[in-house]
Amino acid sequence: MIEPDYIDSGQGLTNPHEIVAELKRGFDRFLNNRTHHPHATQARRHQLAGGQHPQVALLACSDSRVPVEVIFDAGFGDLFVIRNAGNTNTFGSAGSIEYAVLDLNVSVLLVMSHQGCGAVKAAFLKDQVFSASLTELISDIQSGLTSHGISIDDDQAYPDACIQHAIITAKSLMETSEPIRTAVAEKKLLIQPAFLQIDPLYISWLDPFYGVS
Ligand SMILES: [Zn+2]
Repeated sequence: MIEPDYIDSGQGLTNPHEIVAELKRGFDRFLNNRTHHPHATQARRHQLAGGQHPQVALLACSDSRVPVEVIFDAGFGDLFVIRNAGNTNTFGSAGSIEYAVLDLNVSVLLVMSHQGCGAVKAAFLKDQVFSASLTELISDIQSGLTSHGISIDDDQAYPDACIQHAIITAKSLMETSEPIRTAVAEKKLLIQPAFLQIDPLYISWLDPFYGVS
């Protein structure tokens, strides 16, 4: 049986605003200790074995304090999740999102940053030596923050930078990825930036991008 309240591939729900509303309801269930742990049964896995049809792609930080399926009370087949340090626009994350948009036809991309992000913090540590790969990742974060008007020389800017990084990545994905930009402009994809406060737990839902190029 398909419950109408869950993010679910089987309902044909295509209005991205309604899909975001379902994400919010899932988070409310978690917040209020009313989790249902949906879509975890053997029947669900059997249903999905032939293919996935998620409606939501979610780019979040790899941080262990951001367990996305847990906080949205979601299960098998519900969320197409991409995570990396700092929920950053990289070739890997952009390519994965393009796959979700073009092949899976997701209609919502949630880009979620969080309180106390270590990757964003690293962008403020200019004297530290990192490995080559990490240097490239942090350099991407630094240029995003700087072009968004956030000074990486000002440590006081760090808490706000954690919030803004969801918006920065969302904009950057639209600027650098033609398929993502086109999908947003044609209202096939709504990009919803959000910020996760870990303690006390809440989500700030920031202004979405929809129908803009
Ligand atoms: Zn982080």
